[in-house]
Amino acid sequence: MNTNYEEIKKYCDDRGVTLVAVSKTKTPEEILSIYNKGQRIFGENKVQELVSKVALLPDDVQWHLIGHLQSNKVKQVLPFVSLIHSIDSEKLLFEIHKQAEKISRTIDVLLQIHIAEEETKFGLSYDEARSIFQNPELKRLSNVHICGLMGMATLTENESQIRKEFRGLKNFYNQIKSEIGNPKYEILSMGMSSDYKIAIEEGSNMVRIGTAIFGERAQ
Ligand SMILES: *Cc1c(COP(=O)(O)O)cnc(C)c1O
Repeated sequence: MNTNYEEIKKYCDDRGVTLVAVSKTKTPEEILSIYNKGQRIFGENKVQELVSKVALLPDDVQWHLIGHLQSNKVKQVLPFVSLIHSIDSEKLLFEIHKQAEKISRTIDVLLQIHIAEEETKFGLSYDEARSIFQNPELKRLSNVHICGLMGMATLTENESQIRKEFRGLKNFYNQIKSEIGNPKYEILSMGMSSDYKIAIEEGSNMVRIGTAIFGERAQ
């Protein structure tokens, strides 16, 4: 396997950035080869795939769900997940609280913000996210912690556009941070294989990298 893992890991470590190795579509053997280099956090975008890989890999892997989560799949993924990056509705937060309470877990999550031009990418607008943070009902959700925000920039060669989108998200992240004063709110997940260096320059502290570590995906 042609991997740049060590180089990317060092780049992140030197800057205090958490690396999520995105292992979607990759086999347990491929994942294990990166695990054996020291990586513990892996990201999957589908509930079914994440759950099926849990049993096949070591217990100390921390699984992050980075893809859209349907309400009816919450129950399946909660026992195994350590961070959900992709909360895109208030309803989903309530459902996670409800199901997490039943299994006596508290689930860490990020709100996914739509910052790209493409309409296909999931996520909340800044206004929708703000209204979630301002909802007094949020206090009742004892079994879900909002630990920060996630966003994906437009897929474009135009670096200044990518930079502008990440900068906007960082500004919003800071505004919310100063308003809510919650010490658990500390994660800004932005940056993928093609744009993680820009994301880090713009204030990301968690990147989600697949292709640059594992090589191209089949589909
Ligand atoms: C697939 C995926 C990534 C990783 O993409 P690469 O370009 O392979 O690094 C990051 N974030 C999300 C939400 C993804 O679905």
